[in-house]
Amino acid sequence: MLPDQLPKRAFGTTGIDISILGLGTVKLGRDQGVKYPNSFEIPDDRQACELISLARDLGINLIDTAPAYGNSEERLGTLLRGQRHQWVICSKVGEEYENGQSRFDFTPEHTRFSIERSLQRLNTDMIDMVLVHSDGNDEAIIRQFGTLDALAELKSQGKIRAFGMSTKTVAGGLLAAEKSDGVMVTWNLQYDEELPVINYCRDHHKGVLIKKALASGHTTLSPDEDSVQKTFDMLFQHSGVSSAIVGTINPSHLISNAEKAARSIKGM
Ligand code: NAP
Repeated sequence: MLPDQLPKRAFGTTGIDISILGLGTVKLGRDQGVKYPNSFEIPDDRQACELISLARDLGINLIDTAPAYGNSEERLGTLLRGQRHQWVICSKVGEEYENGQSRFDFTPEHTRFSIERSLQRLNTDMIDMVLVHSDGNDEAIIRQFGTLDALAELKSQGKIRAFGMSTKTVAGGLLAAEKSDGVMVTWNLQYDEELPVINYCRDHHKGVLIKKALASGHTTLSPDEDSVQKTFDMLFQHSGVSSAIVGTINPSHLISNAEKAARSIKGM
């Protein structure tokens, strides 16, 4: 029997409600240049379809992708056909991954091109959330390229519903949060340096997505059997956290993560 439907939280003041767990889809589209502890095979269409259907049954409505995740966007365009309105899709701009190499382009021109391409790949006329996929130079990207301004314009044109930035620094996270609807930051049992950004977002009603909540799987290798539960207890006790995007292609991991996330909320 599946656990109860996962609760939802608001993504800042955007009016977009998202499940406290989101589904990360790096592993649906890319198996090169990734930092997972174990090798894996990209799921075929039937497996991916079953995974997405399971996520939906668990109450997950948020799915995270990016142009840099191999063919993840194109696959979602097909896999979500007929159920598009049931999902909040988060994609990105700025990072391209080709022939085993990342390259970055944060210019407004590339941003507009990238959004049009994502709309086509995702087979939709509107993307719910778009984040700048930072290379680590968060502040410079915001100040020099005006990428967030370009996204604000695309929002006013109705091509995207919300925008923000996936950041890697505290200063960059704070600046991005100030200038957008929300951020995506790393927080896990081994790393809490970006907590000031999450606190700022809580105090200023900005959305927060957590990436690498399980340290890309390294958390689960710890001898502590409760490490996933401890992670979710830590994350969801913080009222600034809207959702944690966990990347799994294993259905039993997905179910157990949903059970643990729900338990964290019930125990609060
Ligand atoms: P993560 O969610 O911390 O960890 C994913 C890894 O944990 C997978 O290898 C998964 O393996 C394993 N895992 C998940 N649940 C498990 C469980 N219950 N027991 C054992 N292992 C488990 O890290 P991530 O994939 O790096 O990040 C998550 C998502 O965040 C990505 O998919 C992506 O959407 C997003 N992200 C964004 C950025 C950015 O810059 N914006 C960067 C990194 C990630 P199994 O498949 O075997 O379950």
